[in-house]
Parts: sequence; structure tokens; C-alpha cells
Amino acid sequence: MMTQQEAVDLFRSDDLIGIGIAADALRRKLHPHGIVSYIIDRNINYTNFCTEYCSFCAFYRPMGHQEGYVLDHETICAKIQETVDLGGTGILMQGGLNPDLKIEWYEDLLRAIKARFPNVWLHCFSAPEITCIAEVSGLSLTATIARLRGAGLDSIPGGGAEILDDEVRQRISRLKCGTQEWIDVHLAAHRLGMRTTATMMFCCGETIEQRVNHLEVVRRIQEETGGFTAFIPWSFQRENTSLGRSVKEEATGVEYLKTLAISRLYLENIVNVQSSWVTQGLKTCQVGLRFGGNDVGSIMIEENVVSAAGAHHRASEEELRRIIRDAGFIPKQRDSLYRTFYLN
Ligand code: SF4
Repeated sequence: MMTQQEAVDLFRSDDLIGIGIAADALRRKLHPHGIVSYIIDRNINYTNFCTEYCSFCAFYRPMGHQEGYVLDHETICAKIQETVDLGGTGILMQGGLNPDLKIEWYEDLLRAIKARFPNVWLHCFSAPEITCIAEVSGLSLTATIARLRGAGLDSIPGGGAEILDDEVRQRISRLKCGTQEWIDVHLAAHRLGMRTTATMMFCCGETIEQRVNHLEVVRRIQEETGGFTAFIPWSFQRENTSLGRSVKEEATGVEYLKTLAISRLYLENIVNVQSSWVTQGLKTCQVGLRFGGNDVGSIMIEENVVSAAGAHHRASEEELRRIIRDAGFIPKQRDSLYRTFYLN
């Protein structure tokens, strides 16, 4: 297993191709059939009201702001119907931390969705949202997750991780959940038998050591529970954000590919690593498939959060299949648990 010092040394090395070859070899060992997967799903951002003021976020509106919203059931269900009509299998629903919404609001919403769409997978509510729901409802994390699951929640996305190092979090998301709270939500979910994903938003002013600390936190949780289905690294998008005024440079293609490959190598115990086209563009995403990525994420029918911060890439299913094929892989649609066997 790679040590933290070895990972730091790789980040400092300029042997991009050597690092890529090693990551590609591990990808091939974990995915010997040359399949690269993607999902058809939709992001639904149910509210943009938020109390946390993260400096990298261009999506939120303060409580009471005239541009703030909370979507009603009908609007959310109409978006899900469109997704199903386009061959979608799941919904990724996330929002701001809105203290007006207690657990009953979430339970009602999940039940309403499952009543109409029993087969749609609900991958919803990142760790900061779960922490907020628990706090405003006076519940423990475990009780909160268990009640949400009882109402229809299927799995939890890894959002809100940014960099799992409290020095960084103090600087960019001072009010949002700390490293330990993010860990506690994922551990609690895994112990209830629920799967989650892990993410990393890098190039937000962190040191290489802090980036490696993040990988170490994720690897340790996985060693303990095995509950992560995938790791999704993506780089900070600075447009329209206050952090973008101090972090003036976004990750280059080389930095993205190196981080992707080192993530693949460090997180040997996580089967799937995603190469992101939404933040990096189709061409870099395609090259990422030779730097450890085995999944290209979602044909996103709607995405408001990273597009608010300047990522405006678009792709159709056929375009994604073409870039996968052209990189020498077999494209396969997957579900939210990364299973490709029963779809196409
Ligand atoms: S990143 Fe999430 S928690 Fe932070 S301000 Fe934006 S919506 Fe709120």
C-alpha cells in the first residue's frame, strides 16, 4: 500500500507518464474487461437557501434572499419524469443547508417520489445536509440516516468533502461540517448497510500534504467499512466565487491527470474512480481514462452547482460513448451502484 510520503513524492515528481502507466495498470487489474461506465441521471438542487457561506460556492443564496427557492414536490417529480423518459435510472438530489427544512420535510419528499417512481434510485443529501437535518431535528446522525432510508433514500453522495483537512476547511467553509463530521456521516451510513461515494475538490489553495491527508482519510474509512462505491476527484471552479479572488489559478490538465492517477493508486481499496468531464471537459476526461479513471460519471441532464461556478461543459450520451470507444474502451451504462450487467 502506498504511504503518504510516497504519494507526496509522486505529486512532486514530473514523471506524469510513469504515474499514468502505474495507475492504468491498477485500473486494468480492477477492471480487466475494458469497460468504462456512465450513468444517466439528473441533479436536482431542491433548495439554494443556505446558511454556510462557503467561499468556493456560487450556488447558494442567504436565507430570505429574493433569488432563493425551495422546489415543491410537483416540480421535483416533473424533473424525475423527464429523467425517466430519457432512460435515466437515478436522481442525485442535493441542496443548501436550509434550517427551515426538518426531517419530516425530507421524509415526505422521499415518500412522494418513491410512490410515483419506485424504481428510481435516490442518491441524495451530502454529509453537511445530513448533519444539518440531524441538528435542526434534534436527532442523532444514525437516527437521521435510518429515517431517511426508511422513507426511500438509497445512498448518500460524497459532496461536502472538499479537502478533508480542518485547516483548509476553516479557510474555505468555516461554518460547514468539519472533517470528523463528514467521516461520522459516512461511517454511520456504512454501518447501516448503506453505500456512499467519496469526493475531493482540490486546487482550492491546499498543500500537497493536505491533499494526501484527504486521500488517507478516505482510505481509512474504506478499510474499516468497505462502504464507498467510488472516488470522484474534481478541481475547484473559481468563476463567480469569493475564493476565486484569492485562488487565482485553476488546476491545469497535468495537475488534474496527476491527481486522478495518484488517487487511483492510493485508493487501491476503492473499485471505481471517476474521470470528470463536467469540470475538466470531454478531452481531458477522455485522457483520464488512461490515468486510472474507469467511469465518466453522469450524462447530467441538469446541474446548477458547478455550472454556477463556471463549468459549462455539455455532453450527450452518444458523445460520451464515442470518447470512451475512441480511448479503447467499451462504454456501458451503469446504475447508481456502478453495476453494468443489467443495462444495455
Ligand atoms: S457549498 Fe453547500 S453548504 Fe457551502 S454555501 Fe454552497 S450550498 Fe451552502
